[in-house]
Amino acid sequence: MSGLSEHGEAGLEKGRVETQRYEHALMCTYGTPMRALVRGEGSHVWDADGNRYLDLLGGIAVNALGHNHPAWVGALTQQAQTLAHVSNFFATPPQVALAERLLDLAHAPSGSRVFFSNSGAEANEAAFKMARKTGRGAIIALEGGFHGRTMGALAMTHKPAIREQFAPMPDGVVFVPADDADALRAAATAAGDDLAAIIAEPIQGEAGVVPLSHAYLALIRELTHRTGALFILDEVQTGVGRTGAWFAHQLHGIQPDVMTLAKGLGGGFPIGAVVAFGERAGALLGKGEHGTTFGGNPLAAATALATIQAIEDEGLIDNAKTVGAHIRERLSTVPGVVEVRGEGLLLGIGLATPVAPDVVQAALAAGFIVNPPAPDTVRLVPALTLTTAEADTFLTWLEGYLATHSTSGEQA
Ligand SMILES: *Cc1c(COP(=O)(O)O)cnc(C)c1O
Repeated sequence: MSGLSEHGEAGLEKGRVETQRYEHALMCTYGTPMRALVRGEGSHVWDADGNRYLDLLGGIAVNALGHNHPAWVGALTQQAQTLAHVSNFFATPPQVALAERLLDLAHAPSGSRVFFSNSGAEANEAAFKMARKTGRGAIIALEGGFHGRTMGALAMTHKPAIREQFAPMPDGVVFVPADDADALRAAATAAGDDLAAIIAEPIQGEAGVVPLSHAYLALIRELTHRTGALFILDEVQTGVGRTGAWFAHQLHGIQPDVMTLAKGLGGGFPIGAVVAFGERAGALLGKGEHGTTFGGNPLAAATALATIQAIEDEGLIDNAKTVGAHIRERLSTVPGVVEVRGEGLLLGIGLATPVAPDVVQAALAAGFIVNPPAPDTVRLVPALTLTTAEADTFLTWLEGYLATHSTSGEQA
C-alpha cells in the first residue's frame, strides 16, 4: 500500500484548511468533503496537497470523457466565444442539434420531442408534470428508486429518511417493491383508470446498483400500454453510453414513453433532458406549461454534443463494455466479493460484509475514489475512457485490502 505513505497525514495540510473554510461557508448538506480537489486529467484528479487519485466515481457517473478532455474543452471554449446564453425565447443551433441527436440515438418515432433542463431532478419534475397532464392522478414508483431532491422528484423517491421530513409531498404517488410483478399488477389494478404513470430506473443506481429484470421492465411496458399510462424511465444515471448502449432500455429492446437524462449527458456541464417518445407524449406539455431559464443553453448543448460525439468517435460504448467485463471477470474470483451487479461501467461490487464505507476510506488513502451507495456495496461509475490498466491498479489494491481485512472469512 505505497499510496498510504504518499497520502499520509502530513500530505493533507492544505486540503484540511480548505475543508475547514468549506464547512464555515457552505451548508452542511453533503457532510465533510472527502478531500479538496484542484485539478483533473483523464481518469485522475489531484487534491490541494498534490496527491493523485484514480477517479472511479467520475463526479457520480457524470464525467463520461474524464477530466480535461480536449474535445469537450474545445467545444465549451468555442461556444463561450460564440454565444453563451440567450434564454428560451430564442432558438440556438447547438440546442436544436442536440435535440435532434438525442431523438436519433433513441430511435424515437416521429412526433417525439425533447425538453432540456439543468439536472436530473428537473428532468423528472418535467416528467411528473407530463404525468399530471394526462388528466390522471396516480403514479406508481418503486422502492429503492431515486429520482432527485426537488419536491416532485422527491415525492417519487422511496427512501423515507430523505423524503418524510419534507411532507406533505405532491399527492398521488404509491410505492411498490421493485421487481415484484404481483405487487405491480395489484397497484395498477388499484389505480384503475386513474393510473397516470409508472416510473422506474432500469438499474437502481443510488439503491446500490440494482438492475430490474427484463421481465419486470416488459411488464411495466405491457401494463402502461394496456392502461394508457406513461412509462417514465429514469436514465439519469444509466443513459448516454454508460451501460454499454446509448440508453439502458436499448439493452432490453423496450422503449418507454418518457426518458429522463442528466449526469453523463453534459460530460460535466450541468444539463438534463426529457425525451418524449411519439406524438402523444411529445405533445403533453404545451406553450406556457413548463420552462426554465437556463435549460439547454448554448454552452450546455454544445458540451453535450461534444460529449456524444467523442463517445462515438472514440468507441467509448465498446470501451465501457470491455473494461466493465474485465472488472467483473477479475472480481469473480476475489474472496470477499459475492457478486458484481450492473452493466458496462455502472458497477456495484457486492461485498460479503457491510464494510463498504471502510473500503471507500482505505481506497481514498491509497489513491482511489469510489463510493458506497449501500453498506455492502462499492460503486464504480468512472469515465467511459477508463483503461483496463487503470482499472487493474484498483482491482489489485482491492484484492490486497480484502485479503488482509479478511471479510471473506467471516460469515455475513
Ligand atoms: C442522480 C440521479 C437523479 C438526480 O439528478 P440530479 O442531477 O442530482 O438532480 C435522478 N435520477 C437518478 C436515477 C439519478 O441517479
